[in-house]
Amino acid sequence: MKQYETIIGLEVHVELATKTKIFCGCSTEFGGAPNTHTCPVCTGMPGSLPVLNRQVVEYALKAGIAANCRIHQLCKFDRKNYFYPDNPQNYQISQLYLPICYDGWVEIDTSAGRKKIRIHEMHMEEDAGKLIHDEWEDCSLVDYNRSGVPLIEIVSEPDMRSSEEVIAYLEKLRCMMQYLGVSDCKLQEGSMRADVNLSVREAGSETFGTRTEMKNLNSFKAIAHAIEGERERQIELLEAGKAVVQETRRWDDNKESSHAMRSKEDAKDYRYFPDPDLPPVHISDEWIRELRESQPELKEEKQLRYQKEFGLSEYDSRILTETRQLAELFEDVASLCGNPKKAANWFMGEVLRLAKEKGREPEKVSFAPEHLADLIEMVEKKEVSPQNARKVFEKVFDQDIDPVVYIEEKGLKIVEDTGLLTSTLERILEENPGPLSELLGGKEKVFGFFVGKMMRELKGKASPDAVREALTKEIESRRK
Ligand code: ADP
Ligand code: MG
Ligand code: ZN
Repeated sequence: MKQYETIIGLEVHVELATKTKIFCGCSTEFGGAPNTHTCPVCTGMPGSLPVLNRQVVEYALKAGIAANCRIHQLCKFDRKNYFYPDNPQNYQISQLYLPICYDGWVEIDTSAGRKKIRIHEMHMEEDAGKLIHDEWEDCSLVDYNRSGVPLIEIVSEPDMRSSEEVIAYLEKLRCMMQYLGVSDCKLQEGSMRADVNLSVREAGSETFGTRTEMKNLNSFKAIAHAIEGERERQIELLEAGKAVVQETRRWDDNKESSHAMRSKEDAKDYRYFPDPDLPPVHISDEWIRELRESQPELKEEKQLRYQKEFGLSEYDSRILTETRQLAELFEDVASLCGNPKKAANWFMGEVLRLAKEKGREPEKVSFAPEHLADLIEMVEKKEVSPQNARKVFEKVFDQDIDPVVYIEEKGLKIVEDTGLLTSTLERILEENPGPLSELLGGKEKVFGFFVGKMMRELKGKASPDAVREALTKEIESRRK
């Protein structure tokens, strides 16, 4: 069989995290009772007029700047005309001729190294409503709550060659959007949706083959399966001397196969024209400058800074910066306790371990940074044993208790060199005359037996170091 290369380009829809919709004041909140977040504008009533939400433009600009895009400072909205019951106006307001951002790129990391994926454009548009077919036998219902929720559509160039690259690209976009606060990008909840355009060509060929577009992919797993399935389907057609038909296909992840939905339509089929209800948007130099200056530090920069400034490993830096929330919590703890390395160990060990154990997403972990910082300091000053500190931290993780107060109240504070240590030691030596004479006779193995007994008896109120020191002194003085 001939060798084939897979060519993939993505159209990614990202729901923006604005409070209100793109052209009206209705709430964008997910999951309200059907048709409660609606008004004449987002249900396409005659006589209603759209008013652009400034925040949408700002979020689109932030995303475009982060993805190294150029910006159309005069950009317009266009109507994409088609009938479907989830689209009450019979057109979708989108951007065809002058998309707000264009000509950018992002970098992805794969097992084969770094690679640039070019972004053709990012444009603003409105989402459609939702049809509900399943629960009703002889009718379909429509919910317009999602109608008019702002989206940006991010169109890549056909630069990807494998599902690994596609997933790295999607993860890159998701992480970027989350850091920017522009979207939470949840595939499962539909706030990030990817359409996969795929074609195959003989290895070494310069021209692209005919592509198909696959929709309905709502997990990374489904995307990987769909890419594999479609690649095989196209190769089989070509091997049999048949042609690939340009069409939109729907992936069914349960059946692990796709079926044709419709033949591919062109822009001209939609009779796009500039929306006469919306004036062009002018984006000033000043606005762009302001946004550039206020752009947050993104994952890659943070990662490098952690390595350089804090001396953390590449691995730790990568994990700690996976979400902005976790990274910021870590940075707060690090600066409060003044020891980034120790803080990193606590995060890599305890924080992420507990998050995993308790099924909490890392970005949902939240406690006062002072509390972990205090705990780290107490361990450093040997005021609490590491074992007890870990137990106390679980309470910080769950209920955000104040560890200083808690340790005091529970009597977990190490009380060095007080009567307690000496009296406990004397008592234990007295209670174990056999082992004691062995130890005095030079059998050093018995030393550990006494240390263990002491630690259990003191329940962490003395550090192992302090116990060893006291025991050594006592034995030496008795040997004299
Ligand atoms: P349309 O707007 O009609 O869907 P575009 O030309 O804008 O078509 O391309 C949509 C997506 O398809 C882009 O992400 C692009 O990279 C990708 N694409 C275009 N041609 C091919 C091809 N031959 N093989 C794979 N992907 C392609
Ligand atoms: Mg398209
Ligand atoms: Zn509305």
